[in-house]
Amino acid sequence: MERETFRRYGHQVVDWVADYLEDVERYPVLSPVVPGEVQKQLPREPPVTGEPMDKILADFRDIIVPGVTHWNHPRFFAYFPANNSGPSILGELLSAALGINAMVWQTCPAATELEELVMDWLRQMLGLPERFRGVIQDTASTGTLCALVCARERVTGFRVNAHGFAAGTEGGTLRVYTSQEGHSSVEKDAKIAGFGAENVVRVEVDEAYAMDPRDLEQRIVADQRTGLRPCCIVATVGTTSSTAIDPLTPIASVAERYGLWLHVDAALAGSAAILPEKRWILQGIEGVDSFVFNPHKWLFTNFDCSAYFTRDPETLIRALSVLPEYLKTDLDRHVTNYRDWGIQLGRRFRALKLWFVLRSYGVQGLQQRLREHIALAEEFRTWVEASEHFELLAPVPLNTICFRFHPRAEAEDELSDEKLDQLNKALLDEVNASGRIYITHTRLGGRFTLRFCVGQTQTRREHVIEGWECIRNARVVRARIESGDKGHDGC
Ligand SMILES: *Cc1c(COP(=O)(O)O)cnc(C)c1O
Repeated sequence: MERETFRRYGHQVVDWVADYLEDVERYPVLSPVVPGEVQKQLPREPPVTGEPMDKILADFRDIIVPGVTHWNHPRFFAYFPANNSGPSILGELLSAALGINAMVWQTCPAATELEELVMDWLRQMLGLPERFRGVIQDTASTGTLCALVCARERVTGFRVNAHGFAAGTEGGTLRVYTSQEGHSSVEKDAKIAGFGAENVVRVEVDEAYAMDPRDLEQRIVADQRTGLRPCCIVATVGTTSSTAIDPLTPIASVAERYGLWLHVDAALAGSAAILPEKRWILQGIEGVDSFVFNPHKWLFTNFDCSAYFTRDPETLIRALSVLPEYLKTDLDRHVTNYRDWGIQLGRRFRALKLWFVLRSYGVQGLQQRLREHIALAEEFRTWVEASEHFELLAPVPLNTICFRFHPRAEAEDELSDEKLDQLNKALLDEVNASGRIYITHTRLGGRFTLRFCVGQTQTRREHVIEGWECIRNARVVRARIESGDKGHDGC
């Protein structure tokens, strides 16, 4: 591409991005395409000769964009957010332009030094202990995998790395403990790291869906008695279903008593620790070996950007470093070479977008946005609680409300859980098909549960109000009860 052509299309693309961010509300949140619809509009064979950029961009607008579910939409209340922001997009663009590979210090000194710096900024913002050192990973799944490998190697004296799993674990089968609400990545990582899915022990939760530390200890003791070898605890701060907060202080004392590695998965909720009034979620963090959270979820930084911290970088580096001749440099003793801090060798310049975000918002700006989200979630919770036809299904410590429709018509007998599951599934499908909002579900205590998570960059009070209106005026709801806004029928 000629330089002038690049400049012309570059301006066009940036204009498109600015318009998109301004107009994103006009799109249906959830893409309405059916399976195969995107591919069927595209040729099966690659183009033999180059095509003009005008045509490529037109297809992007006409074929790709309709197949996009808009995570940037202010009425996206599904899953957990993957939010971004203007400064982050600009940082990502510059990182793409530089196209560097930050595998060792020398291959891009600025990338390594900025990464060390912004990770220490985050450490200070979250109130993590001073000895914690950070590295940016792609996702929390990868961070937890690194933690499991560290745990495995520390407990076996680095014997699995040296001799493989069979010979390295002769002292007994290694066990990993997480709560019944722990994320699926724990099981996936346990498979990849060689533990095996059946050696992930699911610890009981209390009525708030947080890990019960007494049950944790009992299971560890029971395993020891039968010759199994407790290795790692993965606690969750902000579970994916309901943002339950596992109590780190008692869990850390169990970890210490039995010599286990303690990893904390705070993928979404970690960001909330920048608020002094929410710091309690990390109480006990000094007893934790590793900790991961995703600025790409709730800190306005483009996917992907996951912050992994450890108080024991020596174990991480020893577990993961392999140093062939072609990667040695004269400076190795004086600098950080992040290739030894994670799985892959090549590394993106993710620190750049994070630096743009932290500088552009400032700590106070970030705190203000998070407080706004939390206050809106609080307000939504009060609407659910005030409605006699909806019920809350879990506490709301942060930005996510778990609830369900539970009509209490006089004439009707109490509905069974099975019937309520069906009704709520129908409600979910109806509101999502409307394109106005997007919410998702989970199961809590066996019950089909609707989740409403407030965390998008552009979400304001009017969007949350519209979300609630859409839910309580859905046809599924109106067919059962007489309340709701008379002017509306359907979401
Ligand atoms: C989202 C989430 C994950 C997975 O995050 P990735 O970065 O996509 O791997 C893990 N744990 C919890 C608690 C999550 O909410």
